[in-house]
Amino acid sequence: MKVICSYCGVEFDKKAPLFENNFCSREHFYRWNSKRISTYNKEKNPMNKPGGVLESRLRKSLKLRDKGKGVTYRKLLGRHEHRRMAEEFFGTELTSNDIVHHINGNKRDNSPLNLQILSRSEHAKLHLGKGGGANAKL
Ligand SMILES: [Zn+2]
Ligand SMILES: [Zn+2]
Repeated sequence: MKVICSYCGVEFDKKAPLFENNFCSREHFYRWNSKRISTYNKEKNPMNKPGGVLESRLRKSLKLRDKGKGVTYRKLLGRHEHRRMAEEFFGTELTSNDIVHHINGNKRDNSPLNLQILSRSEHAKLHLGKGGGANAKL
């Protein structure tokens, strides 16, 4: 299947599943996604408007959250909730090398604006840069 890289615009071959956004390389995905949050904030978050798709999903996950007791990452549909949220939001599939980072450090805050997808190495760098240590797993 011929698709266009959402970051550089180059056409490349991709096997299913296809997402709203597709990338010629993981590198381009990471670059694109780190820019995405600021753009998204500027554009006032259309998916988050009242009654939006994302809002109903968030509400569903909040409902599940209330039932949970002391589990840091509750699962939604059998997978880690924050990873699913990130996949929904960024419209792409996460690999085992992708870390969903909580920007404000609060692991319970799975709002899309709090989620950033990083490679394992980028993620490690980020936490080391901040003096990491105790927060290394956030
Ligand atoms: Zn590309
Ligand atoms: Zn992190």
